[in-house]
Amino acid sequence: MNLEDPERRGPDAERLKPGLYVVGTPIGRLSDLGHRASDVLRGVDVVAAEDTRTSRVLLDHIGARPTLIASHEHNEARAAQAIVERVRAGQSVALISDAGTPGISDPGARVVAAVHAAGLPVVPVPGPAAVTALLSVAGFAEPRFRFEGFLPARPKARRDRLAQLARSDAVVVLYESPHRIVETADDLAAALDPDRTVMVGRELTKRFEQLHRCTAAELPGWLAADADHRRGEFVLAFDAAPPEISDTQLADTLLEALCTELPVRQAARIAARATGLRANDLYRRALALRAGREDDAAEDPGDASGDDDGEATADEAGKAPAVSGPPGSA
Ligand code: SAM
Repeated sequence: MNLEDPERRGPDAERLKPGLYVVGTPIGRLSDLGHRASDVLRGVDVVAAEDTRTSRVLLDHIGARPTLIASHEHNEARAAQAIVERVRAGQSVALISDAGTPGISDPGARVVAAVHAAGLPVVPVPGPAAVTALLSVAGFAEPRFRFEGFLPARPKARRDRLAQLARSDAVVVLYESPHRIVETADDLAAALDPDRTVMVGRELTKRFEQLHRCTAAELPGWLAADADHRRGEFVLAFDAAPPEISDTQLADTLLEALCTELPVRQAARIAARATGLRANDLYRRALALRAGREDDAAEDPGDASGDDDGEATADEAGKAPAVSGPPGSA
């Protein structure tokens, strides 16, 4: 780890090489600004900020006096060209958003893409983001996550999107404003299994920071219980959907278990009653499964566990059960 000198201040900050520095800034608590981010913001020639007034507070706090220019969603294409020209002319430019990491549910991507396209350096200076802050304290066993950001504002589009996300096999992370948190909680409770775990992060790193872990069914009640629960900035995550067992997987597992104890035809008949699938199809499937097992055993001389009930040979596998007829009618 390269630990830089935290005491290095304004005029002493080293002059940075020309390039675009994409700097993560705090999501609430000013002291979460990293040493390197602070050095970069004090060392660059220019800071491109989403809102220059908001960012002035942060820059004043660390004694940085760069030229401040605006780069936000309404002028991003123009700002991108201006930034490219500055970097090409040998300047160092830091890109920051109002809070957190630029490009994460914030503008920044167009500026970054323009600098890449011009063949000029882009340097990450990582810092806070609400998504990683929440995931770090969520404790979900599933390591993969899908960052969804804000859901659509329109109720139907939001519900449709949630219906898709409910099937995600990765954890899903959402951003939400206090104006829509109640509707989103109701939609989550409707879209997810009632016992799916939801993690709520409210006002992270700020004075009234709150973490709440509950089930999808419990979330609307928790919000209704206290007006404070509905205030501030929200990041939410819900656990991955449990793996779906398809009818085919279920039938295979059942057939394999039954075939270890019973003749194939009888196993197929019982599996048909349990799954509602056709006994004939299950009979063929059982033969194919057994043939697969026997092939494996033939390749592995150490495995002598193959069983044989005398009803079918591996040659019959994959063929229609023409000889024996439908097991259901036997
Ligand atoms: N770029 C930011 C990041 O890296 O997280 C996100 C900016 S996005 C415009 C603002 C949203 O992020 C808020 O509406 C909220 O959903 C989430 N957020 C930002 N700060 C937060 C905080 N301190 N606690 C909880 N959520 C926060």
